[in-house]
Amino acid sequence: MTKTKVLISGASVAGPALAYLLHRDGYDVTVVERAPEIRDSGYAVDFRGAAFDVLEDMGLLAEVRALDTKMRGTTLVDEKGVETGRLPAEAFAGELEVPKRDLTRILHRITAGDVEYVFDDSISAMSRHESGVTVEFERGATREFGLVFGADGVFSKVRELAFGPHKDAVRHLGMSGVGFSTANHLGLDHAGMLQHLDDTAIYVFSADPADRLTVSLSFATASPALDRRGRQEQEDAVRAAFAGHGWEAPRLLEAMSRADDFYFSSSCQVHLDRWSTGRIALVGDAGYCAAPTSGMGTSQALIGAWTLARALASAGGDHTAAFGAYEAELRPYVAENQAHGRQAAATFGGAADLADSPTP
Ligand SMILES: Cc1cc2nc3c(=O)[nH]c(=O)nc-3n(C[C@H](O)[C@H](O)[C@H](O)COP(=O)(O)OP(=O)(O)OC[C@H]3O[C@@H](n4cnc5c(N)ncnc54)[C@H](O)[C@@H]3O)c2cc1C
Repeated sequence: MTKTKVLISGASVAGPALAYLLHRDGYDVTVVERAPEIRDSGYAVDFRGAAFDVLEDMGLLAEVRALDTKMRGTTLVDEKGVETGRLPAEAFAGELEVPKRDLTRILHRITAGDVEYVFDDSISAMSRHESGVTVEFERGATREFGLVFGADGVFSKVRELAFGPHKDAVRHLGMSGVGFSTANHLGLDHAGMLQHLDDTAIYVFSADPADRLTVSLSFATASPALDRRGRQEQEDAVRAAFAGHGWEAPRLLEAMSRADDFYFSSSCQVHLDRWSTGRIALVGDAGYCAAPTSGMGTSQALIGAWTLARALASAGGDHTAAFGAYEAELRPYVAENQAHGRQAAATFGGAADLADSPTP
């Protein structure tokens, strides 16, 4: 019997996890990733709850556990940097925290021998017909697939093409931030420091390597457009938000300009009435991002891929039934995570209520 050919857009967490599970279930899997190689994200991600069952099922639990950042906790400081309290490691690190780049590399490694990866390309158009989807790419030749999955993040190309413009799905929670690394001049050892003032937050931590400090500068903003702007404009917005701030702010702002691993990211959520249309379905942040403030994005991406693969296996090839079952099972979990993501963003002056959140 010929295997069903499936295309997954995005090679971060949800994409390679789904690729692994679908290959295991007998599908012929191709993954297309816009970046030229697996991305090297500087931040750490955490796992909670059922994500551990997924890692176990994929035979990865021991290997991922070994990557534990072993954070010991976070010191809270006031505007002058004077200690006001402490948070335990679980506050940010969940039940297990690992560097995101290592997780992505593992997921890529366990699939690379069995799955076709196409880097440096993107879907540019899709047309649906009775037995499949004809997919055009920005670089590669047009190809046919039985099913297409969008695992391509908050600004998913698959979602844009099959479901509609980003503004109809993406909600900005009123909080943005930058991340980068610099020298560990604070001498932090598997520990973090957090200064949360009215509408700004500085979070710094060091784990591995010991000589580097990972920095996050967050600020309340009503302007979702910044995500689509260039680095200079993004840096200017951060400088304006932290103007006149004391403690480490001036030094970190200076380090920001020199950082070669700078990224800008807003707290956004994705809300859709449905996560599939015909032979196309969304998984992970592309379909139902809960925002970084939820701390659940990675767990949700893994559990989403697993729930989707299991639904396809149970439906015996009936993708319509499978996509319905996937959505029915996962929606309550996603709703809970998204409510938590909004509440956490609200502590930074962001939107606790979806009705208040502007669209990018
Ligand atoms: C700053 C920050 C901190 C975070 N902290 C945490 C945390 O502490 N805990 C936690 O659980 N989660 C955290 N998250 C969220 C977590 O990273 C995401 O929820 C998770 O990575 C979602 O995985 P995903 O595979 O669905 O999407 P993503 O990780 O967004 O991956 C999408 C992939 O698709 C690719 N892509 C995009 N467009 C295209 C295209 N047109 N064609 C092909 N490929 C494309 C991208 O290059 C990327 O590789 C954080 C996120 C950010 C930004």
